[in-house]
Amino acid sequence: MVKIPTRVLLVDDEKDFVEMLSLRLQEAGEKISAAYSGKECLDTLEKTNIDVVVLDIKMPGMDGMETLGEIRKRFPLVEVIMLTGHGSTETAVEGMKSGAFDYLMKPADFDDLTAKLEGARKRKDEQEERIRKAEATLLLRKGGNI
Ligand SMILES: [Mg+2]
Repeated sequence: MVKIPTRVLLVDDEKDFVEMLSLRLQEAGEKISAAYSGKECLDTLEKTNIDVVVLDIKMPGMDGMETLGEIRKRFPLVEVIMLTGHGSTETAVEGMKSGAFDYLMKPADFDDLTAKLEGARKRKDEQEERIRKAEATLLLRKGGNI
């Protein structure tokens, strides 16, 4: 079976971490974009089709929670996995209450990450499918066929 790559945006102020993870995810067949701040994350989402954002909570300037709020507002179909360091698990739970799909503890276990990416991608695909069906139904109704 041909794997359809998940379009992932990695957002973290730690460049080494982003680069290392980009390489591994690319090797695993995913399509990776990178951003190093909350602002850069939002700029990238404007320009690029992304399925899942992997979002660091602790970043200088606009932090992960603030970025998550903007993503939910402006790109509601994009799924978010929060990345937490030591001591920010509570923030991750807050993030999930604000609509993040899940969270991962740093240093992220790769299998754990790919499993969560797959779950997030699946949720997005299903949501988009429901929207397509609803739109098709609406069109039919407007046409007077139902
Ligand atoms: Mg950080």
